[in-house]
Amino acid sequence: MPDPITPVLTKRWLSPESWRIETYERLEGYTAARKALAGTPEQLVQVVKDSGLRGRGGAGFPSGVKWSFMPPNEDKPHYLVINADEGEPGTCKDIPLMMADPHSLIEGCIIASYAMRSRHCFIYVRGEALHCIRRLNAATREAYQKGYLGKNIFGSGWDLELTVHAGAGAYICGEETALLDSLEGRRGQPRLKPPFPAAAGLYAAPTTVNNVETIASAPYIINAGSAWFREMGREKSPGPKIYSISGHVEKPGQYECPLGTTLRELLELAGGMKDGIPLKFWTPGGSSTPMFTAEHLDTPLDFEGAAEAGSMLGTTAVQVFNETVSVPWAVMKWTQFYEHESCGKCTPCREGTYWLAQILERMVEGHGTEEDIDTLLDVCDNILGRSFCALGDGAVSPIQSGIKYFREEFLALCASNKRELVGAQA
Ligand code: NAD
Ligand code: SF4
Repeated sequence: MPDPITPVLTKRWLSPESWRIETYERLEGYTAARKALAGTPEQLVQVVKDSGLRGRGGAGFPSGVKWSFMPPNEDKPHYLVINADEGEPGTCKDIPLMMADPHSLIEGCIIASYAMRSRHCFIYVRGEALHCIRRLNAATREAYQKGYLGKNIFGSGWDLELTVHAGAGAYICGEETALLDSLEGRRGQPRLKPPFPAAAGLYAAPTTVNNVETIASAPYIINAGSAWFREMGREKSPGPKIYSISGHVEKPGQYECPLGTTLRELLELAGGMKDGIPLKFWTPGGSSTPMFTAEHLDTPLDFEGAAEAGSMLGTTAVQVFNETVSVPWAVMKWTQFYEHESCGKCTPCREGTYWLAQILERMVEGHGTEEDIDTLLDVCDNILGRSFCALGDGAVSPIQSGIKYFREEFLALCASNKRELVGAQA
């Protein structure tokens, strides 16, 4: 069992009406923002740097370093944009956090905005999550009524406006620069980086884009200190993390544990494999991260551990599949998702995901050939590292890792040309 189990970000989730400002304040809410605004922006950036907090959206970029990229002057307005466009298949940590504890995100926004001298913060929420948009809007109104947003917050002289913005349901708008385009009212497509948003982001002004869980971590770090944060997790990946576990487990859901927790430990928390049917494969952080198998039950799930074992931590969306699931079928479903969500801006991804889906559909329908396996890998090679944004790289992960660990299953499907092999799912 991971030690210590850390109800930090999730500690209020089970309190009655945890989303109301009264509940939040009764449980130490808004104390960190008061403390933060009594200090200087530089001090806040230093505390977050010292904590070792890394971006919780998937990439794991050091958050304090990212905050320090914002220019010290205010020649142009500065913006903080919260990426709440949670869309990675299997990922369900940010929406539950915003539903159960929206004020922890708003308090984090106050702290981070002050640290980066941003006087306007936007929360960009996935368009389908209407319930979440309503909850955030209600919480934002409560915070304005209390004077925690708006003019002269806590009598500090600091002003902050906060806008909740609904996306329109495109996965690509979770890519930070596509998100900024969408926020500006344009079609959401990735921009060339550099310049990174800190140099030219929203309306070409200095901008930081941070994930919900990252910003919601800030109040705890400010209150308890960077040394406390470092007591959890691993040296290069400190702190607690919300792992979202879905699929063939007895109790799917969100489990907050120190970074570096293994699937074996997570399965224990989640009640084990459903109906005792053995594990076949799993993703450590959503479908964009190469799959693992039962061999990886003891891989530490932190940024370094997942990478050393040949995958990525990603969004810690642990999707668990048992022996009844056909790998080619699962890979086809993921590939259809990427084909549908490809924004079409660059040729390798736009054309490649189309061809990958066509080939996989043919295989799963029982008309594939052994050469198709090589063609799949060849198309993957032509997408990986040649696409404009991370979506293209993510699209090839299930295929490459699926063939790496389960080539025999793809071969058997092609050799037999039998639809039954893919079971009831097809
Ligand atoms: P990235 O590594 O390119 O960038 C990470 C962050 O660091 C960005 O904010 C970027 O601006 C900043 N950054 C990186 N290098 C910088 C530099 N030299 N100067 C200034 N800033 C710099 O990763 P990415 O493309 O933003 O994100 C990819 C990740 O997104 C994947 O790992 C995937 O797991 C994750 N993802 C998450 C979801 C979700 O629903 N949460 C969906 C899809 C993908
Ligand atoms: Fe668009 Fe795909 Fe190219 Fe990204 S990789 S820019 S999603 S076409």
